[in-house]
Amino acid sequence: MARRIIIIGAGQAGRRCAETLRELDSTAEIMIFGAEAHLPYDRPPLSKAVLLGKDPGTALFVRPVEFYADQRIALYLDEAVTRVAPVEKRVETARGRSLTYDALVVATGAKARHLVMPGADDPRVMLLRNLDDALALRARLVEKPRLAVIGGGLIGLEVAASAQQLGCAVNVLEAGERLMARGLPASISARMAALHQQHGVRLHLGARLDRIESNAQELTLYLADECLAVDLVLVGIGAAPETTLAEAAGLAVADGIITDRAGRTSQPDIYAAGEVARFPHPLSTETSTRQESWQVAQQQPVSVAHAIMGQDRPYDDIPWHWTDQYDCNLQVLGEPSDAIHQIERAEGERLTLLACDSDGRLCGAVLINNGRDATPCRRMIASGKVFDMAVLADTARPLRSFL
Ligand code: NAP
Repeated sequence: MARRIIIIGAGQAGRRCAETLRELDSTAEIMIFGAEAHLPYDRPPLSKAVLLGKDPGTALFVRPVEFYADQRIALYLDEAVTRVAPVEKRVETARGRSLTYDALVVATGAKARHLVMPGADDPRVMLLRNLDDALALRARLVEKPRLAVIGGGLIGLEVAASAQQLGCAVNVLEAGERLMARGLPASISARMAALHQQHGVRLHLGARLDRIESNAQELTLYLADECLAVDLVLVGIGAAPETTLAEAAGLAVADGIITDRAGRTSQPDIYAAGEVARFPHPLSTETSTRQESWQVAQQQPVSVAHAIMGQDRPYDDIPWHWTDQYDCNLQVLGEPSDAIHQIERAEGERLTLLACDSDGRLCGAVLINNGRDATPCRRMIASGKVFDMAVLADTARPLRSFL
C-alpha cells in the first residue's frame, strides 16, 4: 500500500516538500493541510508588489491549482490541523477529519510578534504576515495615510519604502540604535538609513514607544521625547516560530522544533520543514540555528523530503536573504554582522562588503546592487580558504580570481 505523508502547513515550505516528495516517489499519498484559504504562496511579494498593487505574477502563487491535481498532491485549504498524536501516528483537523500517517511534516512557519502596550489593540495598528494582511494593508495605504512603522527590520523598511512610493508620510520607529541591526554591519545600516531619509522617511532610532492613544480621527504615539499623530501603524517587530501543535505533541522545541540536519524531529516519522525548524548548520558558531528566509523555506524541505524517502541529504546551504527597498537591492550571505574585518569593494552605486574572520576567512558578504558577486561570494565562504585581505579590496581583480 502507498505510504501516506501528511504535511501541516500550505506555505512555501509545505509546497516544496510536497513537490519534492512527488519527484522522489510516484505512488505516495501526499496531503497538505493549510489554515489559510489561499493556495500555497511565497511571501517576498507581500511587502512590495502586493502593497504597490503590481502584479506579482508567479512570484506569489508559484504553482497554479492544476499543478496540485496533476501531481496528485491533495490540498486541504482552510482546514487547520488541530492535534497530532505521535504514538497513534494520527492527526485531527478543524473540519473533524482524523487521519493516520506514515510520515508527518510540520511546516507551520512563524507568526508575527504583536506589540504589547496600551492602545496596540486598535484595528488601525496592523501586522503584515500573510496575504490577507497585505491586502488589508494595501487597502489602507492607497488612502495615503500618515503611517508609523514600528520596527526598522526587513518588514518595517520594505513597508516604509512601499508606503512612501504610494504617497504616504512615513515615520519609522526602531528601538535599536540602527536599522536592520540583526545581521547587518553598522556601515550598511547607515547607508540604508540615508536611503530612506533621501526618500523623505523620518527615522526615529533608539525609539521608546510607551503607549498609543486613539480617537476616531487619529492615533497618537507617545515616545519618550515627542508625540506623533498618525492615521495608521504597521508593526514589524519580529517573528516567532509557530510551534503550538508541536509542543502539544511532545516534540522537542526550543525557539523552533529541534531537528537534525535533514529535518528529523525528536519523534519517529515526524519532520519539521522551513523556518519552524531549528537545526545544526556547519557554518554556525551555535549548536543549532533557525533561519527565517525564503531560502530556508525553499531548500531545507528538499532535504526533509529526501530524509522521508530514506536518502540522506543534509541541509547546509550558505544563509542568504535579500531585500528590495526603492531601487536598492541588498543581498546578505553568510554571517557578516560580527566579522572582525570588513573590506569594501565599491564601484559607483555598486558595493560588495566582504566580512572576514581574524585569519582572513570569508564568513559573510553584503551586496548592494551587486548581485553578480553572489555566486563568487558563496563559493569563497564555502571554500573556508584564508584570503590575503590586503588584495581583496582591489576591484580590478574580479572576486572569482581569488578562488
Ligand atoms: P526583524 O527583521 O527581526 O526586525 C524587527 C525589528 O524591530 C528589529 O530591528 C527590532 O530591533 C525592532 N524592534 C523590536 N521590538 C521593537 C519595538 N517594541 N519598537 C521598535 N522596534 C522594535 O523582523 P520583521 O522585520 O518583523 O520581519 C519578520 C520576519 O519576516 C523576519 O523573519 C524577517 O526575516 C522576515 N522578512 C524577510 C524579508 C526579506 O527577506 N526580504 C522581508 C520581510 C520580512 P532589535 O533587533 O533591536 O530587537
